Amino acid sequence: MTHEATPAAATRTVGEGRAVLDVADLAITFASKRGQVSALEDVSLTVSEGEFISIAGPSGCGKSTLLKAVAGLATPSRGSIKLNGDEVRGPRQDIGYVFQRAALLEWRSVRGNILLQAEMRGMNMRRAGERADELIEMTGLTGFERALPHELSGGMQQRVALCRALLHQPRVLLMDEPFGALDALTRERMNVELNRIWARTGITVLLVTHSVAEAVYLGSRVVVMSPRPGRIIEEHDVPLQRERSYTAVMEHPEFHRVSSRVRTLLGSTVEAD
Ligand code: ADP
Ligand code: MG
Repeated sequence: MTHEATPAAATRTVGEGRAVLDVADLAITFASKRGQVSALEDVSLTVSEGEFISIAGPSGCGKSTLLKAVAGLATPSRGSIKLNGDEVRGPRQDIGYVFQRAALLEWRSVRGNILLQAEMRGMNMRRAGERADELIEMTGLTGFERALPHELSGGMQQRVALCRALLHQPRVLLMDEPFGALDALTRERMNVELNRIWARTGITVLLVTHSVAEAVYLGSRVVVMSPRPGRIIEEHDVPLQRERSYTAVMEHPEFHRVSSRVRTLLGSTVEAD
């Protein structure tokens, strides 16, 4: 199913459950030395609990700004953002954030890096330790608990960053090109793991990616943005079951249909990264 970007988005029925995120008429303008930069315009997006929203768009169209705004780290110039029912007015605790660079502390072990989240939030350390162990197992890091970041591959470092982002059991996970620095094969493996985690935990995810295959394989919905100032130009549901086999999806007609449309939209604005 294809949605027109604007008013229909507010009444869409895809995605069961209640709205976790409601972005309405969002605009963000930055003041810079060279004047005003309009990063986002008229962005409206409603996300239901358990959805996986992949966001694709040309470089500089405001994708990172959108995630920052959801996290309360960028201030709307117009419009509103509601997360779990409350207006976002400052940094939020009920989200997890994963960036392109894992940003681990070099002197702390895998487990120590994951537990940093618990220390910063003043969580109960015994419970946090148990949760860290579950996440270490879920992401295939068992046996590396005491390893230091420089002893890990790029993919393993991103797994640690993912565990750290999930430690406090956020309802919403924001991921900003998390696999962009990984080689193609590692990236595929990480995609499969992330799909499994999403399918099994029911967490709501917003993923920014430059890879069309990644966007469509992972997403329950793919949102395509225009060049700056970023607007949502189309949204496409990906009608595939939650837990997905990579090879089966790559051969699925729906995967090809949605990918081809997203590629056309991106190709019409920029060359793919
Ligand atoms: P994307 O993630 O899609 O590549 P960004 O959200 O990082 O794009 O940036 C969108 C636009 O806003 C860019 O033109 C960028 O230069 C500008 N921008 C982002 N953050 C700031 C800021 N803090 N101050 C001024 N301009 C910014
Ligand atoms: Mg960005």
